Amino acid sequence: MKLSHELFSRAKKIIPGGVNSPVRAFSSVKGDPIYITGGKGSKITDVDGNKYIDFCGSWGPLVLGHADPEVVQAVCKTAARGLTFGACCPLEVEFAELFCDLVPHVDMVRMVNSGTEAVMTAIRLARGFTGKNLIIKFDGCYHGHSDQLLVSAGSGLLTNSIASSKGVTDATISEVLTLPYNDIEKVTRVFKKYKNKIAAVIVEPVAGNMGLVPGDREFLASLRSLTRESGSCLIFDEVITGFRFHAGAYSQLIGINPDISTFGKIIGGGMPVGAVAAGREIMQQLAPLGDVYQAGTLSGNPIAAAAGIATLNTLRNSNPYPHMEWLATVFAEKVNAYAEEDNLPVHCRSYGGVFTVFFTARKPLHNMDDVKTCDTGKFAAFHAYMLERGYYFSPSQFELNFVSMAHTESEVAAAAEAVLEFFDIVRSE
Ligand SMILES: *Cc1c(COP(=O)(O)O)cnc(C)c1O
Repeated sequence: MKLSHELFSRAKKIIPGGVNSPVRAFSSVKGDPIYITGGKGSKITDVDGNKYIDFCGSWGPLVLGHADPEVVQAVCKTAARGLTFGACCPLEVEFAELFCDLVPHVDMVRMVNSGTEAVMTAIRLARGFTGKNLIIKFDGCYHGHSDQLLVSAGSGLLTNSIASSKGVTDATISEVLTLPYNDIEKVTRVFKKYKNKIAAVIVEPVAGNMGLVPGDREFLASLRSLTRESGSCLIFDEVITGFRFHAGAYSQLIGINPDISTFGKIIGGGMPVGAVAAGREIMQQLAPLGDVYQAGTLSGNPIAAAAGIATLNTLRNSNPYPHMEWLATVFAEKVNAYAEEDNLPVHCRSYGGVFTVFFTARKPLHNMDDVKTCDTGKFAAFHAYMLERGYYFSPSQFELNFVSMAHTESEVAAAAEAVLEFFDIVRSE
C-alpha cells in the first residue's frame, strides 16, 4: 500500500480530506483509501499492483463491468470527433429515443450531468407544476447534495427535519418534511395536516443509501394514491434502481407510475450523466417550453450520450439480469446459511444483483432506525479483512454492493468463502 499511501498524503494537502467525494476517504471503515489505476470486467488494480474483485462498481454505474469494450469503443469513436459543442447533437436525440422506448411511462426526458442535478430539477419541476412548496422525503434515502435534500429526521416532533450539513438554512429545511421509510401511517397523518401544501413526495423505491432496504410495495402504492388524491407529485428517485433490475425503470417492475422519475449512474455507463423524465404535461413546464428554468453547458454532450446508448443497448440485447441476480443470491445464501447455523448477529440481504452485509441481529430491516442498530466497528474490520483478501467492498456499512455482468460465479463464491473465514476469526476473538 506504499504508493497509495503516498498519493493520499499528497492529496490531503491540496484536496479537502484528500478526496473529491467524502465516502472515498474510508473514514467510516477507518482505513486509508487505495488508488485505482485500472479496471477490466470485475477486477480493479491499485497503484501498488494489487488486484481486487470489485463489488463497488463506482457505486452503481458499471453494470457491465469495467471498461466494457462496446462502451469504450463508443466513447473513443465519439471523442475523436469532438467532446462537446454546447449545441444540439444527433446522439442526444438517439439517447432520448432509446431511453423513452425502454421507460414507456415517460413521454420526455432531459439529460443533465449527475443524479444530484436530476433530483434538483425534479423538485423544481414539481413545485412549478403544482404551485406548492412542501417536500416529503424519507430518513435514510439519499437524493444527492442539493441544500433542500440535505436534511434528516430530527428527534421529537414527527415532521421535524434537521439539516445534515452546515450551510443549509433554516428556511430551506422548513420546507422539507422527513419521515420514516416504509411507514405509511405517518405519511397519511402528514398529508392530513398539510393537505394542500405538499408539492412532492420523493422516495428511493428500493433504498440503497442505508444499505439495501426495499420499499414495501404497499407503502409505495399508498404514496401513489395519497399524492394523486392531493394533487402532489410522486417522484421516484431511480438514480440507483433505474436499469439495475431490468432494462428499464424499477417502477415498471412493480406497476406503479410515478409522476416524475430521476435517473443517473447506469444510464451514463460511467460518464457523468443524470436524467429527469415524466409525462408530457409535466415535462412541458421546463424551459424553453415552460417557465421552470433548467440548463447545462455540458448536458447531453455526445460522449455521455454515446456511453449511455452503448450501455442501454447492451442491457436490452443481452439481458444480464438473471445472471447478476443469481450471483448475488449465491453470495447471500452462503453467508446467511453460515450466520444462521452459528447464530451470528449478521445477515446478507440481496435483491437482483445488489446486496449489503448487515452487522446486526435485527432483521428484516425496514427503515433507518433499524439500520442504525448495525455494528459499524465490525463492519470496518470486515471491510479491511476483505480488502486484504482481494475483495473491494463499498467502504461503508450504509451502502450497497454491486455485481456486474462481468462477475463470475466462482469469484462470488470465493468472496463468500472469505466472508465465512472472517466470521471464524471474529468468533474466536
Ligand atoms: C447517487 C445517488 C444520487 C446522486 O447522484 P450523483 O450523480 O452522485 O449526484 C441521487 N439519488 C440516489 C438515489 C443516488 O443513489
